Amino acid sequence: MPASALPTCAPPPPQTSYDVIVIGGGVVGACAAWRLASRSASVLLLEQHDTLHRKGSSHGESRIVRPTYPEEHYTRMMKTSYELWGQAQTEAGTSVFRRTGGLDMGPRGSKDMDAIISSAKAVGVDVDVYHDAKALARRCPGVVLPNEYVAVVNGDAGYVHATKAVAMFHTLAGSKGAVIRDRCRVERVAPVAAPTSGVEVVYSFVDSEAAGPLTNVVRARCVCVCAGAWSGEMLRDVDEGGLLETARWAKAGRNTERVDKLASLPLPLTPIHTSVTYWQLRDNTPRELYSSGSLPVFICYDTKYSNERTPQCYGIYGFPCSEVDMPGCVKACLHSGPPITPAGGMSLNSHLNARRDPIAHEPSVRQVQPFLRSVMPGLNADAPVHSEGCIYTMTPDHDFIVDTLLEERANAASPPSTLVAVAAGFSGHGFKLAPYVGERLADLCMGGDAAAKAREELNVLRMDRFAKARL
Ligand SMILES: Cc1cc2nc3c(=O)[nH]c(=O)nc-3n(C[C@H](O)[C@H](O)[C@H](O)COP(=O)(O)OP(=O)(O)OC[C@H]3O[C@@H](n4cnc5c(N)ncnc54)[C@H](O)[C@@H]3O)c2cc1C
Repeated sequence: MPASALPTCAPPPPQTSYDVIVIGGGVVGACAAWRLASRSASVLLLEQHDTLHRKGSSHGESRIVRPTYPEEHYTRMMKTSYELWGQAQTEAGTSVFRRTGGLDMGPRGSKDMDAIISSAKAVGVDVDVYHDAKALARRCPGVVLPNEYVAVVNGDAGYVHATKAVAMFHTLAGSKGAVIRDRCRVERVAPVAAPTSGVEVVYSFVDSEAAGPLTNVVRARCVCVCAGAWSGEMLRDVDEGGLLETARWAKAGRNTERVDKLASLPLPLTPIHTSVTYWQLRDNTPRELYSSGSLPVFICYDTKYSNERTPQCYGIYGFPCSEVDMPGCVKACLHSGPPITPAGGMSLNSHLNARRDPIAHEPSVRQVQPFLRSVMPGLNADAPVHSEGCIYTMTPDHDFIVDTLLEERANAASPPSTLVAVAAGFSGHGFKLAPYVGERLADLCMGGDAAAKAREELNVLRMDRFAKARL
């Protein structure tokens, strides 16, 4: 069949009304769809690119999964996330997680290292603390702990294969009845005109652009925005290039909560360009030193490894040589990078399509080299053998945003029901917690006691912490 005869758009889904519409098919949206569909909600997931595309934040070979965190709330959330990672793999009959143990290191007495040790203690995570290089070398012979560092080792950390995990969650969601549509871009999110409650979503079929936009309108009780780096521009008023008709929302509001939350917009989300870099072993380095038997996944919390324009995000992280990544190479990367700043008025999609960012950001690569030379001298730090780009979506405090943006009450005495929920700003550490976030989004969307409990638990991730900070 000649290319011109191929269909130019996905067939419209027969159903036009759902319980929940999830916007974005990265790991967070996929987990939300899975958890919602598991509770028998009718779910439509809309993804603007191919389901397993490489333009967002969830693609690639590996992501660290670890119970240790400087922030106690994430250490607690990881308990639920670990259970759900296990449940997902059992339900899917596949394995995406590899346990390697985890090594956190950084300056002794630093805020992060002290907090990791105290969070682990408070939540009951088993860790071994190492104060000197010789003791750590018996556990991790390829690592030279700098004199001024302390190290924390735990046995439960490891990594997941990222793209495979996203595919797993999509498959699980689909198997529970969720409708998944890729190459469908959401263009508008608006309230359904009173007296009917709910949300209306307008989306276009990306493939039909050449022939002129073809759109579809669907309705739901509730919408989950899981749009990664695109969340910032999505959650703005239409007049500012966003998708929300905030004036209509404000007018439709029957309670002040809704209007208060709108005042938190635009959310302070900054996409940044990060570089993933792979390093080869030196010719005479025994491979066992850096394979998963002796090298755990690692994070170095040292503020000297950073990008001056993104100071809230610093350090080096990495993975042992493995069979899923580049064999014979260690993946070691800077946990930072420069902000992505589309030229005036340009959308993130146009900016990314114009490929303005290099595959690897040279200054980021140069930050990894001194770390490797001092801490992992068995690696050749002259130049990475492979590099690629990815996006983090930063918040000013490096904490996620998981919240309801719009809620509605039938009357003043009734509990709020969620119209729009948001999960964004994962700041380069959201993958491991995506199952937890998906579960809580399902709580928020399904209502009842679970929603009230989720609101309480998610208090620390509320979006209006930034609105308060601005006052
Ligand atoms: C290099 C790198 C390493 C990382 N390492 C770790 C790690 O070791 N451990 C860890 O826990 N986390 C890690 N992270 C962070 C983690 O990968 C992210 O937090 C997570 O993938 C974010 O997922 P997401 O679903 O929010 O975003 P995304 O994966 O970007 O998904 C958002 C989706 O929304 C879609 N979308 C946007 N707008 C629209 C629209 N209008 N209509 C329809 N669809 C739309 C996008 O196309 C996209 O697919 C890392 C990230 C990177 C980049």
